[in-house]
Amino acid sequence: MSVVVMKFGGSSVKDKDRIMNVAEKIVKRKKSGDDVVVVVSAMGDSTDELIELAQDINPNPPDREWDMLLSTGEQVSSALLTMAINTYGVPAISLNAAQVGIKTDDVHKKARILSIDDKRLNKELKEGNVVIVTGFQGVNGGFDITTLGRGGSDTSAVALAKALEADLCEIYTDVDGVYTADPRIVKDARKLTSITYDEMLELSSLGSKVLQARSVECARLHNITIHVRSSFNDKEGTYVQEGRENMEIKNPLIRGVCSDKDIAKVAVKGVPDKPGVSYKIFSELARVNIHVDMIVQSIQKEKGINDILFTVKLEDVTKAKEVLESIDEFEVEDIMIKEDVAKVSIVGAGISQNPEVYPAMFGALGKEDINIEIISTSETRISCLIDEKRLEKAIEAIHDKFELGNEDRGEDTSVSLGG
Ligand code: ASP
Ligand code: MG
Repeated sequence: MSVVVMKFGGSSVKDKDRIMNVAEKIVKRKKSGDDVVVVVSAMGDSTDELIELAQDINPNPPDREWDMLLSTGEQVSSALLTMAINTYGVPAISLNAAQVGIKTDDVHKKARILSIDDKRLNKELKEGNVVIVTGFQGVNGGFDITTLGRGGSDTSAVALAKALEADLCEIYTDVDGVYTADPRIVKDARKLTSITYDEMLELSSLGSKVLQARSVECARLHNITIHVRSSFNDKEGTYVQEGRENMEIKNPLIRGVCSDKDIAKVAVKGVPDKPGVSYKIFSELARVNIHVDMIVQSIQKEKGINDILFTVKLEDVTKAKEVLESIDEFEVEDIMIKEDVAKVSIVGAGISQNPEVYPAMFGALGKEDINIEIISTSETRISCLIDEKRLEKAIEAIHDKFELGNEDRGEDTSVSLGG
């Protein structure tokens, strides 16, 4: 008998009907002979609602209490889903992170899983239960509840798949798979049959909400295949896996366009142009666990001072500002924050080997009169920071330029630049 991990996102369990629908899927799988471990997110927008409630009471709540509060959402959905499965006459049990033994480090709100105990899980499976595990949470060494960051149930699922040596980790969501662009924005966006860990990691890090980036990292580390698929139909979704042997035959360079609106540009203006300044700025941000991206330093040679620009997540803006203002090792002229920016990116293995990709992307934006504020690149991506109001247009223009909606576009690594 094989173990399968099935993870259901918040939209898949947002109300009674959807919970019953998910229960039916699980029961079917169980009856087909598999051992089933389910990971579930909080219902619908309930995590956002908890956050709103918290911030209404205290705009800057302690991280420990934040985790204590947010982890309740998954406890609700796991118990309800278990009850739903029971109505089919199938035995099931819900377990939270403490009951399973999901150990994490001490970093509240962004905890990392250190280990998962498989004893209780295997005992319940042996007794014939479907096991429903609360996603997104763990416990630290002192048994305080931690959470794994927004979207963290994906990481819970992959980590559980590893702990149970499961054959497959299925992530059920409200879209049919991973697309070349957000299908709500781009009409001819195509579903990808499969995608490599590296490409998916870039897509997730750059704002695709389909999978939490850390879940992809974890899957790559342990070579676990993730199947991203819809909870509303039985269609094959997108396989996230190593290698390209199972990829669609037509395998073009650019895999997709993605974007992130939930970021802000931070400009640390007028810092001295001397060794150790960047070190100080970014070690202070790292100390409070703030993720940064798109770092640019511009030099104003005459005055001997620099401007250092970068992006942070919107939710980290206040903390970032506080930390930067507290630096007293050197003068800072000004700290400027701009929130109405968005990052639009293209992803594909081998971008850096194909110089024609850069002008193609920048040209697509220029043609629409969209100004680029910051550019950053890696081997597998190009990102541009632009005005948030122009984001949808930018995505469409880039998707068009690379003909990502065209089933028959260029083969292998040749890029088709379109008209
Ligand atoms: N409920 C959490 C969130 O909304 C975790 C998850 O859904 O994966 O971020
Ligand atoms: Mg999610």
